[in-house]
Amino acid sequence: MTTLVYGLGESGLAAARALGERGVEVIAVDANDSKGLRRSAEGLGAETRFGVGPEVLEEGFDRVVASPGIRPADALLSAAEKGGIPILSEVALGLELLRTEAPGLNVAAVTGTNGKTTVVDMIGHCLTASEVPHAVAGNSWRALTGCLEEVRDAGTLVLEVSSFGLHYLENPGFDVAALLNVRPDHLNWHASFEEYVADKLRIFDGQNPEDLALVSAGDEVGRSAVEGLAAETVVVGDGETRVQEGRLLLRGQPLVEVSELPFVGGHNLENALFAALTAEGLGAGMAGIREGLRGYGLKPHRMEVVGESGGVAWVDDSKATNPAAVAAALAGIEGPVVLILGGSEKETDFSEVLPHLGWCRAILCQGEAGPRLHGFLNEAGVEAEVRLLPDLRSAVEEARALARPGDVVLLSPGCASFDQFSGYAERGEAFARLSTAPDGVRP
Ligand code: ADP
Repeated sequence: MTTLVYGLGESGLAAARALGERGVEVIAVDANDSKGLRRSAEGLGAETRFGVGPEVLEEGFDRVVASPGIRPADALLSAAEKGGIPILSEVALGLELLRTEAPGLNVAAVTGTNGKTTVVDMIGHCLTASEVPHAVAGNSWRALTGCLEEVRDAGTLVLEVSSFGLHYLENPGFDVAALLNVRPDHLNWHASFEEYVADKLRIFDGQNPEDLALVSAGDEVGRSAVEGLAAETVVVGDGETRVQEGRLLLRGQPLVEVSELPFVGGHNLENALFAALTAEGLGAGMAGIREGLRGYGLKPHRMEVVGESGGVAWVDDSKATNPAAVAAALAGIEGPVVLILGGSEKETDFSEVLPHLGWCRAILCQGEAGPRLHGFLNEAGVEAEVRLLPDLRSAVEEARALARPGDVVLLSPGCASFDQFSGYAERGEAFARLSTAPDGVRP
């Protein structure tokens, strides 16, 4: 049985290694070829090839392990599909190996357009405070196939899964499956929004009545899925698990006062409820969940105050890479905002941001998507002043000139960062650096 591992990023390398260690014959390939790629694949212990196309399939493979960055429309994956060769994601491979190597494993999976990393991190904090041994992996964490032994030893896995990971994953049967929200994003990867929704809903496939399914009352896709779910289902924000009178209720029990939590924003309170239910489903107690949430600090680049000068607060929400995250950011701010939007173009519809622009003094559109956003906002007739700037640096300079004491300058771009940066973290760091630079001086 020869497996083709396609895509030699972190997860592809981990998958090839895990298979090699288990005596499976592997050929690991990438469509690209560069010194960096070749270097990172050195010492893999499997045959590697670069600059490879669909013709490699003629050699005969039993299956293909696909890396998350590769679209289903890719030539090699399309050819594999046409040829009836099974394709599985790296996460699917990891779960398959764990099914035999760690049969009693408890697995909670979290997906959604926004909030995955935050919820998974909160779950980890609640489990740690409850002394439940666990391992965290997937998507923005480490590759699952790279930490199988640790997962097996811990006995509990908290998994962040993207729609890419779910696309090639059959019947996972998670003990706890959380779907936070589904909003337009990644439509450059998926064939359509319908496909994106269908992939997200796969998180509930294979569940039994003893399992737990979580959806949000505020999310249309989640709510409309409830009827067909086999597991015990909790609708977060509805019934007994919700925010009520300044307090989080967990299955009707008072969990924690909102004022005790070191993070703000209605979306983060909802994230906390998802985390609490998931942690409880994995064996955490009320006291540990409470302690975990009370001590939880948001990760960088998510509504992070990175500077304050002249009465102006500079807030880095660089991780907001779609309009729904921008809407959530604006919903949490009461007071004048100078908003910086834009970045690399994903052609996403920004309509859902429109109702939240009431506090905006100015909206600065920058980067590759800047001209489209500028045109869209003008056409929508927003009241705020809308300006077009070439890049983040000039947008920050403009924001400094426009902001008045008491304002928030918010970088919540609603776009990916690759037009100007290597990722959202580099973009957020640049924003922080530029925001603190004295007027006119380029750091
Ligand atoms: P993900 O891992 O899904 O990208 P993150 O936790 O990294 O999610 O947050 C990404 C962005 O989405 C941040 O800007 C954050 O403020 C925002 N966000 C977090 N949770 C939610 C939510 N439940 N709804 C909407 N936006 C959210």
